[in-house]
Amino acid sequence: MLKVNALMIKSVDYADNDKILTLFSLEQGVISAKIRGVKKAGAKLKFAAEPFCFAEYILTEGSLKSVANASLNDSFYPLREDLFRYYAAGAAAEFVKRFCPENVVHAALFSATARFLSALAYTPVRAEGALAWYLSGGLKEIGYSLRLDGCAGCGEVPRRPFFDFGEGSVYCEDCRGEGAKELSRDTYKLLLALRGGEETPQESFFEELGVEKGYYLRALRLINRFLLTAAGGELSSLKAFIKLCEGVF
Ligand SMILES: [Zn+2]
Repeated sequence: MLKVNALMIKSVDYADNDKILTLFSLEQGVISAKIRGVKKAGAKLKFAAEPFCFAEYILTEGSLKSVANASLNDSFYPLREDLFRYYAAGAAAEFVKRFCPENVVHAALFSATARFLSALAYTPVRAEGALAWYLSGGLKEIGYSLRLDGCAGCGEVPRRPFFDFGEGSVYCEDCRGEGAKELSRDTYKLLLALRGGEETPQESFFEELGVEKGYYLRALRLINRFLLTAAGGELSSLKAFIKLCEGVF
């Protein structure tokens, strides 16, 4: 038997009443496991197959692991009552599923993901700010850091910053290459403020930053395009989140 602390990041139906879960575990990174009977009414382990369930999973070992038992740590239940927060959480889950190979330990990203879900579920932090912060830190964890502190060519603070999507770097007007896209002052200010990693910021952090809502979407679009250009795939749930926000911002 194998015991892991894990977040349930994806489930697909399997046979009549079973599911295959993708678990993001602290101890072993991303792993797949079958769970039996969870589609039956009153199934004891139903909670363990719910989106974003944070639990201690007891798994049988073998070519396809199977969930023998689970004890709930946190269901982050309020995520299911707010469409924006649910989509933002889904974008984080897709990020992990897409960019963390199975059985590669990502302890810092695991903690950041759990903290992100907790902030989204239990604090009034704006979903777009928390998600941008999470993804900015996540990029670092998968080896695609954004380098924004100064022009990647001359080192100066760029008066007009241009973003290079192949490198994830910022350039000044003189050093920029072809295809680099000019960033607005507020998009740049926001991206610089998104340090990721540490504690997910509270809403007061974003209030004090004073950047208008629309720039959060620009920052998220930039991150998604960077993932497509540099890391080989954008996140469809991030696109869906942005679209949802566009309808109300
Ligand atoms: Zn320069």
